[in-house]
Amino acid sequence: MAAATPVPPPAHLRAVDPARARAGAARRRRTGAAETPLARKRRARRINAVLAEAYPYAVAELDFENPYQLLVATVLSAQTTDVRVNATTPRLFAACPTPRALAEADEAQVEQIVRPLGFYRAKTRAIRALAQRIVDDFDGEVPGRLEDLVTLPGVGRKTANVVLGNAFGVPGLTVDTHFGRLARRFGWTGEEDPVKVERDVAELFEPRDWTDLSQRLVYHGRRVCHARRPACGVCPVADLCPSYGEGPTGTAEAAALLKYEFAPGREALLEGYLAGRTRAQLRAEGWELAP
Ligand code: SF4
Repeated sequence: MAAATPVPPPAHLRAVDPARARAGAARRRRTGAAETPLARKRRARRINAVLAEAYPYAVAELDFENPYQLLVATVLSAQTTDVRVNATTPRLFAACPTPRALAEADEAQVEQIVRPLGFYRAKTRAIRALAQRIVDDFDGEVPGRLEDLVTLPGVGRKTANVVLGNAFGVPGLTVDTHFGRLARRFGWTGEEDPVKVERDVAELFEPRDWTDLSQRLVYHGRRVCHARRPACGVCPVADLCPSYGEGPTGTAEAAALLKYEFAPGREALLEGYLAGRTRAQLRAEGWELAP
């Protein structure tokens, strides 16, 4: 049987020098606890700079036009994909363009619209309760402060920071499962508790970088640094990461793990992103985008 043709890494990913990455990871594992706060901060900022180059198009994956829409879309995105939410919310927001309209809408009608997202009864109750509280306590306007947002039913720090960072332009670190896993792999924190992870990472970056950093970590976690088998062999931050080697380090094996626009054969999608086409345009062209 003929040997399998090796899969080349996508051209835009920085080639990993295995010897350099291995040496760097070994050194960082050895000295991890002894890394000075300044060295950790510098390394963290270099990682952020490399990720910024790798994901210049990293933006919130949920479609929205105002804070109300992003808040509702974020609540609806639990246990489903952003793609499904984006396919569902235009109808919802056409029927219920404001918190007041959603609070007063017919429950069965809302259930019918959000049904494709699963758990539709619970989700309908959640977004209507949220809308009612916005009407009752905030005069129908989504509040723009963390301490107010977290008083809304079903809104925790993560959701509040998503809304603050992306709809209000207020810096926020959004610690979800990808963010927490990557922050630990990078040696930025040893904590599991999202509030403590947020505190540790906040010390490494200027607030103006928090929102973009959050997006980049989610992008990197979904595309390259997967929970089970991270694609270390083609990872753009391999030589800065103490966890290099947690996943396959061989180029072909690692490249086969890449997802979404990084997957071999999807280079045209990446070109579309880099050319500035929006997610909605790319979807209209037939691309299946990240969940
Ligand atoms: S893919 Fe590997 S090298 Fe890259 S960030 Fe994840 S663990 Fe580190």
